[in-house]
Amino acid sequence: PAMSESESKPRILLMGLRRSGKSSIQKVVFHKVSPNETLFLESTNKIVKEDVSNSSFVQFQIWDLPGHLNFFDSAFDSEHIFGGCGALIFVIDAQDDYVDALAKLRQTVSKANKINPKLKFEVFIHKVDGLSDDHKIETQRDIHQRAYDDLADAGLENLHLSFYLTSIYDHSIFEAFSKVVQKLIPQLPTLENLLNIFISNSGIEKAFLFEVVSKIYIATDSSPVDMQSYELCCDMIDVVIDVSCIYGTRDDLTFDDSSYAIIKMNNGTILYLREVTKYLALVCILREDSFERQGLIDYNFLCFREAIQEVFEVRQKMQGSQPNSENA
Ligand code: GDP
Repeated sequence: PAMSESESKPRILLMGLRRSGKSSIQKVVFHKVSPNETLFLESTNKIVKEDVSNSSFVQFQIWDLPGHLNFFDSAFDSEHIFGGCGALIFVIDAQDDYVDALAKLRQTVSKANKINPKLKFEVFIHKVDGLSDDHKIETQRDIHQRAYDDLADAGLENLHLSFYLTSIYDHSIFEAFSKVVQKLIPQLPTLENLLNIFISNSGIEKAFLFEVVSKIYIATDSSPVDMQSYELCCDMIDVVIDVSCIYGTRDDLTFDDSSYAIIKMNNGTILYLREVTKYLALVCILREDSFERQGLIDYNFLCFREAIQEVFEVRQKMQGSQPNSENA
């Protein structure tokens, strides 16, 4: 059977000890919950919590890892779960004693790697908002060192883990997620190339291809990303969604083909947002004088959008014809 759209999306597992922050991360990134509201989230008692968000480009599953969880228990189809996913995010609470978390990490990595050697391991050193800058660096160094020592003890010295310092109280969680998701997109070089061509022909300084619901960026042009530009573009998406929620006529769909917004700021900067696909929007930063050629930018955008849509159609066709190529 042809593969459904949802099955061709990047699949990510979010794991970690109870209370490490998994549900909060998911709520903040994918459900627009404000960080303070997560203080009152009820801790889930279920061991496996599944959440597949249809409005997102990414698919998720969340696993709480309390002490007794056994991956080889017949209650879990671990072959299917690890086998079918591209990345495993392991959340460690940096404000807590992380000895238990590291033990669980080692156990998880060695088991998951056996089932799926292509699985990427992403360690979120989380809740770093409570730590000073020095303390952050020291914690990252310490966790990095211990995690690799543990892996070496388990005979897995060739395995690669990536580390990120994250917090739901700033944009670091979105930035980290963006990097994780980008690794799972086989067309990333093509997307970056298209963005480079688009911005250089349009006098644009920076462009991000965003997933609208989550505000993670799945690609950007090759100029360096500075946090402020990223935050500015995230804020623009929020403004556009809020305005269309309030004034839009269809409450089920806040984004459509014609979503288009321009914000002029008093420092001579322009933010330009256009819808690309059902899930994706392009947000650009440019100088006011470049915007005098708005017709050219609009035209270039239409060419860019056509190219992006082709990239994703090709991907879907390829995956539709090869039912087992989920990890390709
Ligand atoms: P889970 O059991 O792994 O799903 O953890 P929860 O999402 O329930 O989070 C446990 C607690 O950690 C909640 O009180 C959250 O408000 C808090 N928390 C989550 N992320 C952060 C963060 O980045 N910084 C801080 N300071 N607290 C956080």
